[in-house]
Amino acid sequence: MQFALPEDLVAFRDLARDFAQKHIAPFARKWDAEKWLPDETIKKMGEAGLLGVTIPEEYGGAGQGLLAMTVVVEEIARHCGATALMIAAHSGLCTNHIKLAGNDAQKRKYLPQLADAKIVGAWCLSEPHCGTDAAALTTRAEKDGNGWVINGQKMWITNGKRAGVFVVIARTSPQPGARAFSAFIVERSVKGLEVGEPEDKMGMRASDTVPLSFENVRVGEDALCGKLGDGYVDALRVLDRGRVTIASLSLGLGRGCLEEAVKYAAERKAFGKPLHANQAIQMKLADMETQVEAARILVRQAASTFDAGRGDKQAASTAKLFASEMASRVGWDSIQIHGGAGYTKDICVERLVRDNKLCEIGEGSSEVQRMLIARAEFQKRSA
Ligand SMILES: Cc1cc2nc3c(=O)[nH]c(=O)nc-3n(C[C@H](O)[C@H](O)[C@H](O)COP(=O)(O)OP(=O)(O)OC[C@H]3O[C@@H](n4cnc5c(N)ncnc54)[C@H](O)[C@@H]3O)c2cc1C
Repeated sequence: MQFALPEDLVAFRDLARDFAQKHIAPFARKWDAEKWLPDETIKKMGEAGLLGVTIPEEYGGAGQGLLAMTVVVEEIARHCGATALMIAAHSGLCTNHIKLAGNDAQKRKYLPQLADAKIVGAWCLSEPHCGTDAAALTTRAEKDGNGWVINGQKMWITNGKRAGVFVVIARTSPQPGARAFSAFIVERSVKGLEVGEPEDKMGMRASDTVPLSFENVRVGEDALCGKLGDGYVDALRVLDRGRVTIASLSLGLGRGCLEEAVKYAAERKAFGKPLHANQAIQMKLADMETQVEAARILVRQAASTFDAGRGDKQAASTAKLFASEMASRVGWDSIQIHGGAGYTKDICVERLVRDNKLCEIGEGSSEVQRMLIARAEFQKRSA
């Protein structure tokens, strides 16, 4: 694979970088404190083309691949994990599910609105009693005349408070196995959908995370997204790509922690010289830089396999596992280099570290990634 970005993606990266520096970095601390990302910022991201990166041009997007998505998410996450998570759930999960599994009418109806942020998307798999063991979900959709009736509870839904459209994975058969589930596109205006209070989280605070309750929610036949019985399998396809996006989110957070540490080590003086003149600090910075670069290579490698049409799930898991754990390590080292200042909210590193912890948990925890990587490795070796 090529490690240098092609020219059009360099332009995309610069656009996202410029946007993040102007419209996100100055406000991220305030949004974290207020636990809310302004609608205006989301609208601006839509106008700048940052929410339709992977949506085909015929549906109003930029028609780019997963590599482009990772480039954008890295730049946004560099300054604010919560804004990047908003994009990851909106584009990487909800939009991508409709793009991968939806029919042409659904794509025509929803993708242009998702691309320019007329509506925000959310994706609903997890439930109060199951996250990792997602196939234990009990939200059910039952056939009723020409449509479906949905009943159940969803949990931890990113963007849920503001979303205009939800992709909901529900059980459509009592039989065991992966084919017992289907996906539905549910609009916010439906009767019986109740959006709960946002969680009070340690990080990603500007990103809203809510429980949802579905009580006799009626949707039409045309709400079925993908084939009947394919909902769980399609969700796993969405998650394979989503993991690469989350890896790029951690890459951006880790890079932010590194860049802040480099800056501080040059500015701050101790014993009459800048901090970075001390070999102990240099060693730390060198290890941080090495880990950030390694994560970038894993992210780009994994994304490229999907863009080449041979999506490598093991590469996706490897990128997510390494990048998310890397950003935590690099984050704590950055706090250490900042000394007392690093322990305050005046330095953005503490926020980036809090934001990153989610990346070791969501869209398949580190434990799950290790299981998937090991399983794939054994399969390869025994083939
Ligand atoms: C901020 C935030 C945003 C989220 N956004 C969304 C969203 O938009 N949509 C959505 O559907 N979900 C979302 N989630 C849910 C998220 O994907 C789940 O939290 C995650 O999958 C873990 O599930 P759980 O919390 O139920 O933990 P559990 O599944 O209960 O796991 C608890 C712990 O046990 C470990 N564990 C579980 N099984 C095993 C095993 N077999 N072997 C070893 N260890 C194991 C896990 O790794 C974890 O450390 C979000 C969560 C958070 C916190």
